[in-house]
Amino acid sequence: MKLLFATRSAGKQKEIRRVLEAAGHEVVFPDEAGVPESTLEDSLELADSFETNARLKAEYFLKKTGLPTVADDSGLEVYSLGGQPGVRSKRWANANGSPRQVDHANNAELLRRLLGAPGSKRRARYRCVLVLLRSASSFPEVFEGSCGGVILEEPRGTGGFGYDPLFLSDDLDQTFGEASPEDKDRISHRGRALAQLVAKLPTSA
Ligand code: IMP
Repeated sequence: MKLLFATRSAGKQKEIRRVLEAAGHEVVFPDEAGVPESTLEDSLELADSFETNARLKAEYFLKKTGLPTVADDSGLEVYSLGGQPGVRSKRWANANGSPRQVDHANNAELLRRLLGAPGSKRRARYRCVLVLLRSASSFPEVFEGSCGGVILEEPRGTGGFGYDPLFLSDDLDQTFGEASPEDKDRISHRGRALAQLVAKLPTSA
């Protein structure tokens, strides 16, 4: 099945393409579908829940392309910070610049907030909510995945994106910066949500 995946994040795109193409589906991202980036898109991510943000993004891009659309809204929740950065994960440090610079500033903010915190205060989870809209008149279908871990005091590994080098996965005993792409896909919040999505898609292309 051909799907538009409503994200411009290169880190997410790699993971999504890997999983969906392996399952026999064709994925296009907004640039490939000829939808130029607009400042309007920022206003689609201001709600207080991953689900609402994902639904708003899916509705916007379905309207632009007419294609069955999936949107991903995801982030990191640190228990001792009351679930922050949560839905604000992408712009937590309010930094401008390239995606790498923004990730770097967010990671520095995370380390600063947890400076001196004991292990018990460093528990965290990633969450990913996917919303599938098959057409403008269909009900949104929602898929959610999460995975637990601990925030380290120093980054480890250079793989993944975002907070990955600081997130020591409970399941892998490695950070997502150290994990192979296959291992991250198998146990990550996004991998788990994508597996549920794939189970609901028609099997032939
Ligand atoms: P969104 O594009 O508004 O959903 O923001 C997602 C943000 O959450 C990203 O920019 C990252 O900061 C963080 N995030 C979500 N998933 C991951 C992941 O798999 N690895 C690292 N950071 C992630």
